[in-house]
Amino acid sequence: MKILVIEDEAKVARALVSSLEAEHYQAVLARNGEDGFFRASSEKFDLVLLDLGLPGRGGIEVLKALRGRGDATPVLVLTARDGIEDRVLGLDSGADDYLVKPFAIAEVLARIRALLRRGRPDQVLRLKAADLEVDLVTRKVSRGSSELTLTPREYDLLEYLLRHKDQLVSRGMLAREVWKEVARATPLDNVIDVHMNSLRKKVDEGLANKLIHTVRGVGFVLKEGGPS
Ligand code: CA
Repeated sequence: MKILVIEDEAKVARALVSSLEAEHYQAVLARNGEDGFFRASSEKFDLVLLDLGLPGRGGIEVLKALRGRGDATPVLVLTARDGIEDRVLGLDSGADDYLVKPFAIAEVLARIRALLRRGRPDQVLRLKAADLEVDLVTRKVSRGSSELTLTPREYDLLEYLLRHKDQLVSRGMLAREVWKEVARATPLDNVIDVHMNSLRKKVDEGLANKLIHTVRGVGFVLKEGGPS
């Protein structure tokens, strides 16, 4: 899940970005309205955290411009001003929710989860294979009744494998789609294998029903009931 943070106050921005990253969201920071609007227009985000009091192009203006071009990305407005007009204006301009500063980070995270859940009723929010389950909103991973603790990279790998369930996934695909490496002098194969082995341990070790399989000379497949 990718979140755009449009916030000019360095301290608040830092706190938001690091808390989001700690929750394994991918956070992108824009420090003013122009940059925020540019980012939101050129990349796909799952949610936007928007400060209303921005230098130059203000938050309301950014919000109106986004909605004006048909962008339905959920927007959580942050406002320092306690004025009711601001909140009403924010909601009227297309915000999905708002928080008044100063806010507790835990509250921001809770609102984000709520918005991500309700934002896309048509979107798949969970991926499953046998008793393995990934919640795409909270990024919680479980196998049967036990919760698995994955590194961010292992999580991304697993999500990719699940999205391509029963399909062969090559190391080249993983390098491109998970590591975002377009071209590299040294292939990432060894790095990918290390992460894959560690992921496989967490997902499959000690269980009869293995889900992640190596296909020699080709790559990997996530499959219920064996590699063939
Ligand atoms: Ca501000």
